[in-house]
Amino acid sequence: MKAIFDDRQRAHDPRNFMANGQPLPNPEQPRRIEVLSDGARAAGCAFEAPRDHGTGPIAAIHSPEYLTFLSTIHARWSRIEGASDEVIPNIHPDRRTASYPRSAAGQAGFHQADTACPIAAGTWEAAYWSAQTALGGVDAVLGGERAAYALCRPPGHHAFGDLAGGFCFLNNSAIAAETLSKAGRRPAILDIDVHHGNGTQGIFYHRRDVLTVSIHADPIRFYPFFWGHADERGAGEGLGYNLNLPMPRGTTDAQFLEVLTTALARIEMFGADVLVVALGLDAHENDPFQGFKVTTPGFARIAQAIAATGLPSVIVQEGGYLSDDLGANLTSFLSGYRT
Ligand code: ZN
Repeated sequence: MKAIFDDRQRAHDPRNFMANGQPLPNPEQPRRIEVLSDGARAAGCAFEAPRDHGTGPIAAIHSPEYLTFLSTIHARWSRIEGASDEVIPNIHPDRRTASYPRSAAGQAGFHQADTACPIAAGTWEAAYWSAQTALGGVDAVLGGERAAYALCRPPGHHAFGDLAGGFCFLNNSAIAAETLSKAGRRPAILDIDVHHGNGTQGIFYHRRDVLTVSIHADPIRFYPFFWGHADERGAGEGLGYNLNLPMPRGTTDAQFLEVLTTALARIEMFGADVLVVALGLDAHENDPFQGFKVTTPGFARIAQAIAATGLPSVIVQEGGYLSDDLGANLTSFLSGYRT
């Protein structure tokens, strides 16, 4: 399988993360790149760099003011006397009004949903090339590849059109799906990360041309808490084109595979002719986030079930954090996909 990655994705090296009121090391580390790329190579993947598609496909999903914010905020923030090395908001407005704040701190509150998306000097460059990597996966599939693996990092599925959150800045899966749609395809996004793909849902919530389906730990007790419930089905002409399948903490391989059949049936009924798989590996039993109990061989079975649809697939890396099993989980998934 073709795999895509660009070295400039290493430029984002976040230091901060708040959990339970405590500053902790940020789990979305550049070290994930080595572990995941080794895992992909062990499954027979050969890596290549994406071409630069420019900001056009990114701006099809994200607002101009948000992209200006992401690309300039660190320099502006750094001019605040005594400011931290990373942009972290100290205000989280629940309702954002029509007036757009002018100050760096106000804009950080406007565009950053939580404290898990610190912006440093290299964040924009890394997020930009992470999005280009997803687009490289799209190029491969539009070029006739059965599937392509995009090692997107930082991840994307918690990013809305104008809002970062949960380690995510640009929504790589949404950018891929929109580009496929513009190429005349009918994409479905299948998100199997243990966290709900709230940004992806939000981006397509009022649309019926891109189906969004997410299997995740029930947000009643799990991040992102405020999205991902079963009764969020889309709105307006998008009503019925978003399917959330929240599952209990501790969900096993067998339970996951069973709910996956529901997800795949909806995708078939939608008439998708291409898939974007938002591949989180944090459903694993040893992932630090401890949501589900999917096993390493379980990822191969999940991949086999997805591959059995016969749909060409852009496999976009989302979450999955450092543990002894992270690389093996990717090898298992990508090997399962081939067979
Ligand atoms: Zn996740």
